Amino acid sequence: MNLKPSASPPLRPIYRALLHEFGPQHWWPGRTRLEICVGAILTQNTAWTNVERAIQNLRKARALNLPVLHSATLPQLAAWIRPAGYFNVKARRLRAFTTLVVGEFGGKLEKLLALPATQLRATLLAVKGIGPETADSIVLYAAERPVFVVDAYTRRFLHRHGWISAKATYDEIAALFTAQLPCNVTMFNEYHALIVALGKNFCRPRPLCEKCPLRRWLKD
Ligand code: SF4
Repeated sequence: MNLKPSASPPLRPIYRALLHEFGPQHWWPGRTRLEICVGAILTQNTAWTNVERAIQNLRKARALNLPVLHSATLPQLAAWIRPAGYFNVKARRLRAFTTLVVGEFGGKLEKLLALPATQLRATLLAVKGIGPETADSIVLYAAERPVFVVDAYTRRFLHRHGWISAKATYDEIAALFTAQLPCNVTMFNEYHALIVALGKNFCRPRPLCEKCPLRRWLKD
């Protein structure tokens, strides 16, 4: 266990402070469940604006459906998603995902997403290139099950306040939230989105603590 024993971030007051500052975020920015899954895979190591451009290319090519996504050649897939960066790697990840849906769920995404949350998460994690953040984004935002998505912004603000060590694992950080908060899809959805807003607006690489809604929890 890499969390500090005394670490106990006041997650409910933090949530209220973030909600007060930013208001409801209305995530996930995707029109369909498939689009949410594609976005979750493409957003690794890149800004969401780049993902939007890649998704726009897929939409223009009428490729935002499983049969087309699965039958396109890898070079074609890579060309469509080029704006998202690491496009050859991400094309293979998308193909691995569509292969799961087509090969094991008869091409029915809803069948995959209907699995019990633990099983769904394990199934996604078994796909090459899908890690915990991507898997949990799909479980929370596409399947609408209550898991907590941990990203670099989450790790950054918790660590800066001394609530976790630099070595805290993904699962340890997620457990902090699930242990303290009600097991609720809407709240987990909103909380993650608010943390992203925090990371973009205040808890940047160079933090803007003076105006940050979490400054009251800074240690002297
Ligand atoms: S910007 Fe400063 S006060 Fe705000 S979350 Fe980051 S470290 Fe905390």
